[in-house]
Amino acid sequence: MHYLQQQCYIKEIIIEPKLVNNIYEISKQYSDNIFLVVDKNTLKFLNKKILDKVSNIILPANVVASLDIIELVKNKAKSSDLIIALGSGTINDICKYTSYIEQKEYILFPTAASMNGYTSATASISVDGYKRSFTAHLAKAIYIDTDILTNAPIRLTLSGFADFICRSTAQADWLLSHLLLGTQYNELPFIMVNEMEQILLKEYQYLNKKSSEIVVLLMQALLISGFGMVISDGSYSASQGEHIIAHAMDIVNYNHCSLHGEKIAVTTMTMGNLQEKILSIKNPIIQRSTIEESEIIEYFGINQFTKILEQKKKYAAKCSKIVHEKWKNIFNIIQQNILPTKHLEKIFSELSMPYLPEHLGWNQKQYHTVANLAFATRDRFTFLDLANCIIN
Ligand SMILES: [Zn+2]
Repeated sequence: MHYLQQQCYIKEIIIEPKLVNNIYEISKQYSDNIFLVVDKNTLKFLNKKILDKVSNIILPANVVASLDIIELVKNKAKSSDLIIALGSGTINDICKYTSYIEQKEYILFPTAASMNGYTSATASISVDGYKRSFTAHLAKAIYIDTDILTNAPIRLTLSGFADFICRSTAQADWLLSHLLLGTQYNELPFIMVNEMEQILLKEYQYLNKKSSEIVVLLMQALLISGFGMVISDGSYSASQGEHIIAHAMDIVNYNHCSLHGEKIAVTTMTMGNLQEKILSIKNPIIQRSTIEESEIIEYFGINQFTKILEQKKKYAAKCSKIVHEKWKNIFNIIQQNILPTKHLEKIFSELSMPYLPEHLGWNQKQYHTVANLAFATRDRFTFLDLANCIIN
Protein backbone atom coordinates (compact mmCIF):
# COMPACT_ATOMS: atom_id res chain seq x y z
CA MET A 1 0.00 0.00 0.00
CA HIS A 2 2.84 2.31 0.87
CA TYR A 3 4.29 1.55 -2.55
CA LEU A 4 1.01 2.49 -4.25
CA GLN A 5 0.73 5.74 -2.40
CA GLN A 6 4.23 6.66 -3.46
CA GLN A 7 4.06 5.58 -7.06
CA CYS A 8 0.47 5.96 -8.24
CA TYR A 9 0.51 9.59 -8.95
CA ILE A 10 -0.27 10.39 -12.54
CA LYS A 11 -2.26 13.61 -12.48
CA GLU A 12 -3.87 13.00 -15.86
CA ILE A 13 -3.70 11.00 -19.05
CA ILE A 14 -5.16 12.79 -22.07
CA ILE A 15 -5.65 11.05 -25.41
CA GLU A 16 -6.53 13.53 -28.18
CA PRO A 17 -5.54 14.54 -31.72
CA LYS A 18 -2.84 17.17 -32.27
CA LEU A 19 -1.81 17.46 -28.62
CA VAL A 20 1.87 17.89 -29.44
CA ASN A 21 1.02 21.18 -31.21
CA ASN A 22 0.41 22.52 -27.70
CA ILE A 23 3.37 20.87 -25.99
CA TYR A 24 4.71 24.23 -24.80
CA GLU A 25 1.42 25.48 -23.35
CA ILE A 26 0.67 22.10 -21.71
CA SER A 27 4.12 21.87 -20.15
CA LYS A 28 4.03 25.46 -18.89
CA GLN A 29 1.03 24.57 -16.72
CA TYR A 30 3.43 22.55 -14.59
CA SER A 31 6.55 24.72 -14.53
CA ASP A 32 8.24 27.76 -16.02
CA ASN A 33 11.51 25.97 -15.97
CA ILE A 34 11.26 22.99 -18.28
CA PHE A 35 13.77 20.80 -20.10
CA LEU A 36 12.67 19.08 -23.29
CA VAL A 37 14.12 15.75 -24.44
CA VAL A 38 13.58 14.64 -28.04
CA ASP A 39 15.50 12.57 -30.53
CA LYS A 40 16.13 13.13 -34.24
CA ASN A 41 13.02 11.06 -35.07
CA THR A 42 10.60 12.87 -32.79
CA LEU A 43 12.01 16.34 -33.51
CA LYS A 44 9.83 16.47 -36.64
CA PHE A 45 6.67 16.61 -34.51
CA LEU A 46 7.68 19.94 -32.97
CA ASN A 47 7.11 23.49 -34.01
CA LYS A 48 10.79 24.47 -34.02
CA LYS A 49 10.07 27.77 -32.28
CA ILE A 50 9.79 25.86 -29.00
CA LEU A 51 13.52 25.07 -29.19
CA ASP A 52 14.24 28.82 -28.79
CA LYS A 53 11.93 29.04 -25.79
CA VAL A 54 12.98 26.07 -23.64
CA SER A 55 16.21 24.29 -22.75
CA ASN A 56 16.44 21.06 -24.68
CA ILE A 57 18.51 18.19 -25.95
CA ILE A 58 18.15 16.47 -29.31
CA LEU A 59 19.45 12.93 -28.95
CA PRO A 60 20.58 10.73 -31.88
CA ALA A 61 17.86 8.76 -33.69
CA ASN A 62 18.85 5.35 -32.33
CA VAL A 63 20.01 6.46 -28.92
CA VAL A 64 20.40 3.80 -26.21
CA ALA A 65 19.20 4.46 -22.65
CA SER A 66 22.69 4.01 -21.18
CA LEU A 67 24.20 5.42 -17.99
CA ASP A 68 26.32 7.79 -20.13
CA ILE A 69 23.24 9.28 -21.76
CA ILE A 70 21.52 9.55 -18.36
CA GLU A 71 24.57 11.47 -17.11
CA LEU A 72 24.47 13.76 -20.14
CA VAL A 73 20.76 14.56 -19.78
CA LYS A 74 21.14 14.94 -16.01
CA ASN A 75 23.85 17.59 -16.44
CA LYS A 76 22.06 19.47 -19.21
CA ALA A 77 18.79 19.52 -17.23
CA LYS A 78 20.51 20.57 -13.99
CA SER A 79 18.88 23.98 -13.73
CA SER A 80 15.39 22.86 -14.83
CA ASP A 81 12.77 21.41 -12.51
CA LEU A 82 10.58 19.53 -14.98
CA ILE A 83 11.62 17.14 -17.76
CA ILE A 84 9.43 16.74 -20.84
CA ALA A 85 9.82 13.52 -22.84
CA LEU A 86 8.73 13.38 -26.47
CA GLY A 87 9.36 9.89 -27.80
CA SER A 88 8.75 6.21 -27.29
CA GLY A 89 10.38 3.59 -25.06
CA THR A 90 13.99 4.77 -24.97
CA ILE A 91 13.21 8.48 -24.48
CA ASN A 92 10.71 7.50 -21.80
CA ASP A 93 13.31 5.38 -19.97
CA ILE A 94 15.93 8.14 -20.17
CA CYS A 95 13.55 10.82 -18.83
CA LYS A 96 11.90 8.56 -16.27
CA TYR A 97 15.21 7.54 -14.74
CA THR A 98 16.96 10.92 -14.98
CA SER A 99 14.03 12.74 -13.38
CA TYR A 100 13.82 10.08 -10.66
CA ILE A 101 17.48 10.25 -9.61
CA GLU A 102 17.38 14.06 -9.79
CA GLN A 103 14.13 14.17 -7.77
CA LYS A 104 12.35 16.06 -10.52
CA GLU A 105 9.04 15.40 -12.17
CA TYR A 106 8.58 14.41 -15.77
CA ILE A 107 5.78 14.69 -18.29
CA LEU A 108 5.43 12.29 -21.14
CA PHE A 109 4.27 12.71 -24.75
CA PRO A 110 4.54 9.11 -26.10
CA THR A 111 4.92 8.83 -29.86
CA ALA A 112 4.22 5.10 -30.39
CA ALA A 113 2.18 2.28 -28.83
CA SER A 114 5.40 0.29 -28.69
CA MET A 115 5.65 -1.15 -25.15
CA ASN A 116 4.01 -1.08 -21.71
CA GLY A 117 6.63 0.92 -19.79
CA TYR A 118 4.88 4.31 -20.06
CA THR A 119 2.93 3.63 -16.88
CA SER A 120 5.39 1.45 -15.00
CA ALA A 121 7.59 2.73 -12.21
CA THR A 122 10.77 1.00 -13.43
CA ALA A 123 13.22 2.13 -16.09
CA SER A 124 15.10 -0.18 -18.42
CA ILE A 125 18.69 1.06 -18.62
CA SER A 126 21.63 -0.43 -20.49
CA VAL A 127 24.62 -1.22 -18.25
CA ASP A 128 27.79 -2.77 -19.72
CA GLY A 129 25.86 -3.65 -22.85
CA TYR A 130 22.80 -5.29 -21.34
CA LYS A 131 19.49 -4.01 -20.07
CA ARG A 132 18.78 -3.78 -16.37
CA SER A 133 15.62 -2.73 -14.62
CA PHE A 134 15.97 0.18 -12.19
CA THR A 135 13.49 1.56 -9.70
CA ALA A 136 12.15 4.91 -10.93
CA HIS A 137 8.79 6.67 -10.77
CA LEU A 138 5.69 7.43 -12.80
CA ALA A 139 5.18 10.43 -15.06
CA LYS A 140 3.34 13.39 -13.58
CA ALA A 141 1.05 13.38 -16.62
CA ILE A 142 0.82 11.66 -20.01
CA TYR A 143 -0.40 13.37 -23.19
CA ILE A 144 -1.04 11.08 -26.12
CA ASP A 145 -1.35 12.66 -29.54
CA THR A 146 -3.54 10.23 -31.50
CA ASP A 147 -2.33 11.47 -34.91
CA ILE A 148 1.28 10.77 -34.04
CA LEU A 149 0.44 7.45 -32.39
CA THR A 150 -1.62 6.18 -35.33
CA ASN A 151 1.06 7.07 -37.86
CA ALA A 152 3.99 5.67 -35.87
CA PRO A 153 6.22 3.22 -37.80
CA ILE A 154 4.36 -0.07 -38.01
CA ARG A 155 7.24 -2.03 -36.44
CA LEU A 156 6.85 0.02 -33.27
CA THR A 157 3.09 -0.59 -33.07
CA LEU A 158 3.47 -4.32 -33.70
CA SER A 159 6.22 -4.44 -31.09
CA GLY A 160 3.71 -2.98 -28.62
CA PHE A 161 1.18 -5.63 -29.61
CA ALA A 162 3.67 -8.40 -28.75
CA ASP A 163 4.61 -6.72 -25.46
CA PHE A 164 0.91 -6.74 -24.60
CA ILE A 165 -0.10 -10.19 -25.86
CA CYS A 166 2.68 -11.91 -23.88
CA ARG A 167 0.11 -11.50 -21.10
CA SER A 168 -0.74 -15.15 -21.80
CA THR A 169 2.68 -16.66 -21.05
CA ALA A 170 3.34 -14.17 -18.23
CA GLN A 171 0.08 -15.09 -16.49
CA ALA A 172 0.76 -18.82 -16.87
CA ASP A 173 4.21 -18.42 -15.30
CA TRP A 174 2.97 -16.20 -12.49
CA LEU A 175 0.17 -18.67 -11.73
CA LEU A 176 2.63 -21.56 -11.75
CA SER A 177 4.79 -19.90 -9.13
CA HIS A 178 1.73 -19.08 -7.04
CA LEU A 179 0.28 -22.59 -7.24
CA LEU A 180 3.55 -24.42 -6.62
CA LEU A 181 5.38 -22.14 -4.22
CA GLY A 182 2.58 -20.04 -2.72
CA THR A 183 4.05 -16.73 -3.98
CA GLN A 184 1.70 -13.76 -4.23
CA TYR A 185 -0.63 -13.52 -7.25
CA ASN A 186 -3.19 -10.94 -8.32
CA GLU A 187 -5.93 -11.51 -10.91
CA LEU A 188 -6.80 -7.83 -11.24
CA PRO A 189 -4.17 -6.82 -13.86
CA PHE A 190 -5.63 -9.47 -16.19
CA ILE A 191 -9.26 -8.62 -15.54
CA MET A 192 -8.51 -4.98 -16.35
CA VAL A 193 -7.21 -5.77 -19.85
CA ASN A 194 -9.36 -8.76 -20.75
CA GLU A 195 -11.98 -6.93 -22.80
CA MET A 196 -9.34 -5.01 -24.76
CA GLU A 197 -7.41 -8.21 -25.39
CA GLN A 198 -10.51 -9.86 -26.87
CA ILE A 199 -10.98 -6.95 -29.29
CA LEU A 200 -7.30 -6.91 -30.27
CA LEU A 201 -7.37 -10.67 -30.90
CA LYS A 202 -10.24 -10.09 -33.36
CA GLU A 203 -9.17 -6.82 -34.92
CA TYR A 204 -5.37 -7.15 -34.96
CA GLN A 205 -5.19 -6.76 -38.74
CA TYR A 206 -6.26 -3.14 -38.33
CA LEU A 207 -2.92 -2.47 -36.61
CA ASN A 208 -1.20 -3.00 -39.97
CA LYS A 209 -3.77 -0.71 -41.59
CA LYS A 210 -2.96 2.01 -39.05
CA SER A 211 -6.56 2.24 -37.84
CA SER A 212 -6.62 5.02 -35.28
CA GLU A 213 -9.29 3.25 -33.22
CA ILE A 214 -7.32 0.02 -32.87
CA VAL A 215 -3.90 1.63 -32.38
CA VAL A 216 -5.36 3.83 -29.62
CA LEU A 217 -7.02 0.76 -28.09
CA LEU A 218 -3.63 -1.00 -28.08
CA MET A 219 -2.10 2.03 -26.38
CA GLN A 220 -4.81 1.97 -23.72
CA ALA A 221 -4.20 -1.74 -23.18
CA LEU A 222 -0.46 -1.07 -22.80
CA LEU A 223 -1.07 1.77 -20.33
CA ILE A 224 -3.31 -0.48 -18.23
CA SER A 225 -0.79 -3.31 -18.50
CA GLY A 226 1.75 -0.86 -17.03
CA PHE A 227 -0.64 -0.03 -14.18
CA GLY A 228 -1.03 -3.78 -13.67
CA MET A 229 2.69 -3.93 -12.87
CA VAL A 230 2.31 -1.08 -10.37
CA ILE A 231 -0.54 -2.80 -8.54
CA SER A 232 1.33 -6.11 -8.64
CA ASP A 233 4.20 -4.41 -6.84
CA GLY A 234 6.58 -5.58 -9.56
CA SER A 235 6.52 -6.60 -13.20
CA TYR A 236 4.99 -10.03 -12.45
CA SER A 237 1.83 -9.55 -14.53
CA ALA A 238 3.67 -8.57 -17.72
CA SER A 239 7.18 -10.00 -17.57
CA GLN A 240 7.97 -13.62 -16.89
CA GLY A 241 9.71 -16.41 -18.82
CA GLU A 242 9.37 -14.69 -22.21
CA HIS A 243 11.15 -11.58 -20.87
CA ILE A 244 13.72 -13.69 -19.01
CA ILE A 245 14.76 -15.40 -22.27
CA ALA A 246 14.89 -12.07 -24.15
CA HIS A 247 17.07 -10.48 -21.46
CA ALA A 248 19.33 -13.56 -21.32
CA MET A 249 19.76 -13.34 -25.11
CA ASP A 250 20.70 -9.67 -24.69
CA ILE A 251 23.51 -10.73 -22.35
CA VAL A 252 25.14 -13.15 -24.78
CA ASN A 253 24.28 -11.52 -28.08
CA TYR A 254 22.76 -8.05 -27.86
CA ASN A 255 20.62 -7.50 -30.92
CA HIS A 256 20.48 -3.75 -31.57
CA CYS A 257 18.50 -4.16 -34.77
CA SER A 258 15.42 -5.68 -33.13
CA LEU A 259 12.85 -3.89 -31.02
CA HIS A 260 11.94 -5.05 -27.53
CA GLY A 261 8.52 -6.32 -28.61
CA GLU A 262 9.96 -8.15 -31.62
CA LYS A 263 12.19 -10.16 -29.30
CA ILE A 264 9.19 -10.72 -27.02
CA ALA A 265 7.12 -12.06 -29.94
CA VAL A 266 9.77 -14.74 -30.54
CA THR A 267 10.29 -15.57 -26.86
CA THR A 268 6.52 -15.65 -26.23
CA MET A 269 6.20 -18.37 -28.86
CA THR A 270 9.02 -20.31 -27.18
CA MET A 271 7.43 -19.96 -23.74
CA GLY A 272 3.96 -20.78 -25.09
CA ASN A 273 5.24 -23.98 -26.73
CA LEU A 274 7.14 -24.94 -23.59
CA GLN A 275 4.12 -24.34 -21.36
CA GLU A 276 1.87 -26.40 -23.62
CA LYS A 277 4.41 -29.22 -23.74
CA ILE A 278 4.81 -29.35 -19.94
CA LEU A 279 1.08 -29.04 -19.31
CA SER A 280 0.46 -32.01 -21.62
CA ILE A 281 2.49 -34.32 -19.34
CA LYS A 282 0.05 -36.52 -17.46
CA ASN A 283 2.01 -37.46 -14.34
CA PRO A 284 5.14 -35.32 -14.13
CA ILE A 285 7.91 -36.12 -11.66
CA ILE A 286 10.24 -33.46 -10.27
CA GLN A 287 13.94 -34.19 -9.95
CA ARG A 288 16.96 -32.06 -9.16
CA SER A 289 18.18 -29.96 -12.07
CA THR A 290 21.44 -31.27 -13.50
CA ILE A 291 22.64 -27.82 -14.55
CA GLU A 292 25.61 -26.69 -12.45
CA GLU A 293 26.56 -23.15 -11.56
CA SER A 294 29.88 -23.39 -13.40
CA GLU A 295 27.91 -23.91 -16.61
CA ILE A 296 25.84 -20.77 -15.98
CA ILE A 297 28.85 -18.63 -15.07
CA GLU A 298 30.81 -19.85 -18.05
CA TYR A 299 27.97 -19.26 -20.48
CA PHE A 300 26.87 -15.82 -19.36
CA GLY A 301 30.25 -14.67 -18.03
CA ILE A 302 28.55 -13.28 -14.91
CA ASN A 303 28.82 -14.87 -11.48
CA GLN A 304 25.97 -12.93 -9.88
CA PHE A 305 23.59 -15.71 -10.95
CA THR A 306 25.11 -18.25 -8.53
CA LYS A 307 22.81 -17.27 -5.66
CA ILE A 308 19.75 -17.41 -7.88
CA LEU A 309 20.65 -20.94 -8.97
CA GLU A 310 21.04 -22.07 -5.36
CA GLN A 311 17.59 -20.69 -4.57
CA LYS A 312 16.12 -22.36 -7.64
CA LYS A 313 17.35 -25.77 -6.51
CA LYS A 314 15.45 -25.29 -3.24
CA TYR A 315 12.30 -24.33 -5.16
CA ALA A 316 12.46 -27.57 -7.16
CA ALA A 317 12.61 -29.61 -3.96
CA LYS A 318 9.74 -27.62 -2.49
CA CYS A 319 7.33 -28.13 -5.38
CA SER A 320 7.92 -31.86 -5.91
CA LYS A 321 5.13 -33.02 -3.56
CA ILE A 322 2.53 -30.55 -4.79
CA VAL A 323 3.20 -31.42 -8.44
CA HIS A 324 2.69 -35.07 -7.58
CA GLU A 325 -0.57 -34.46 -5.68
CA LYS A 326 -2.25 -31.55 -7.47
CA TRP A 327 -1.02 -31.52 -11.05
CA LYS A 328 -4.49 -31.96 -12.57
CA ASN A 329 -5.81 -28.97 -10.66
CA ILE A 330 -2.73 -26.87 -11.58
CA PHE A 331 -3.16 -27.87 -15.23
CA ASN A 332 -6.85 -26.84 -15.23
CA ILE A 333 -6.26 -23.43 -13.66
CA ILE A 334 -3.38 -22.49 -15.96
CA GLN A 335 -4.88 -23.98 -19.11
CA GLN A 336 -7.96 -21.78 -18.98
CA ASN A 337 -5.85 -18.61 -19.01
CA ILE A 338 -3.52 -19.27 -21.91
CA LEU A 339 -3.73 -18.51 -25.62
CA PRO A 340 -2.89 -21.48 -27.86
CA THR A 341 0.49 -20.92 -29.53
CA LYS A 342 -0.95 -22.01 -32.88
CA HIS A 343 -3.35 -19.06 -32.62
CA LEU A 344 -0.54 -16.66 -31.70
CA GLU A 345 1.63 -17.95 -34.54
CA LYS A 346 -1.19 -17.33 -37.01
CA ILE A 347 -1.59 -13.75 -35.75
CA PHE A 348 2.14 -12.96 -35.77
CA SER A 349 2.49 -14.51 -39.20
CA GLU A 350 -0.47 -12.54 -40.66
CA LEU A 351 0.99 -9.34 -39.20
CA SER A 352 4.38 -10.20 -40.80
CA MET A 353 5.97 -10.17 -37.38
CA PRO A 354 8.98 -12.22 -36.30
CA TYR A 355 8.03 -15.30 -34.29
CA LEU A 356 11.01 -17.64 -34.71
CA PRO A 357 14.61 -16.97 -33.54
CA GLU A 358 15.88 -17.01 -37.13
CA HIS A 359 13.47 -14.18 -38.00
CA LEU A 360 15.61 -11.93 -35.78
CA GLY A 361 18.89 -13.33 -37.09
CA TRP A 362 19.42 -15.24 -33.85
CA ASN A 363 21.46 -18.41 -34.13
CA GLN A 364 19.04 -21.27 -33.37
CA LYS A 365 21.56 -23.37 -31.44
CA GLN A 366 22.63 -20.45 -29.28
CA TYR A 367 19.01 -19.42 -28.73
CA HIS A 368 17.98 -22.88 -27.53
CA THR A 369 20.96 -23.05 -25.14
CA VAL A 370 20.06 -19.60 -23.76
CA ALA A 371 16.39 -20.58 -23.37
CA ASN A 372 17.52 -23.70 -21.48
CA LEU A 373 19.83 -21.79 -19.10
CA ALA A 374 17.86 -18.55 -18.77
CA PHE A 375 15.95 -19.75 -15.69
CA ALA A 376 19.11 -19.18 -13.64
CA THR A 377 19.36 -15.49 -14.61
CA ARG A 378 16.35 -14.27 -12.65
CA ASP A 379 14.88 -14.95 -9.26
CA ARG A 380 11.42 -15.69 -10.58
CA PHE A 381 9.98 -19.23 -10.80
CA THR A 382 8.54 -19.98 -14.24
CA PHE A 383 7.96 -22.86 -16.64
CA LEU A 384 11.65 -22.41 -17.57
CA ASP A 385 12.46 -23.77 -14.11
CA LEU A 386 10.01 -26.60 -14.39
CA ALA A 387 11.49 -27.58 -17.77
CA ASN A 388 14.82 -28.10 -16.00
CA CYS A 389 13.57 -30.39 -13.30
CA ILE A 390 10.66 -32.31 -14.75
CA ILE A 391 10.53 -35.80 -16.21
CA ASN A 392 7.66 -37.66 -17.83
ZN1 LIG B 1 8.20 -5.87 -22.16
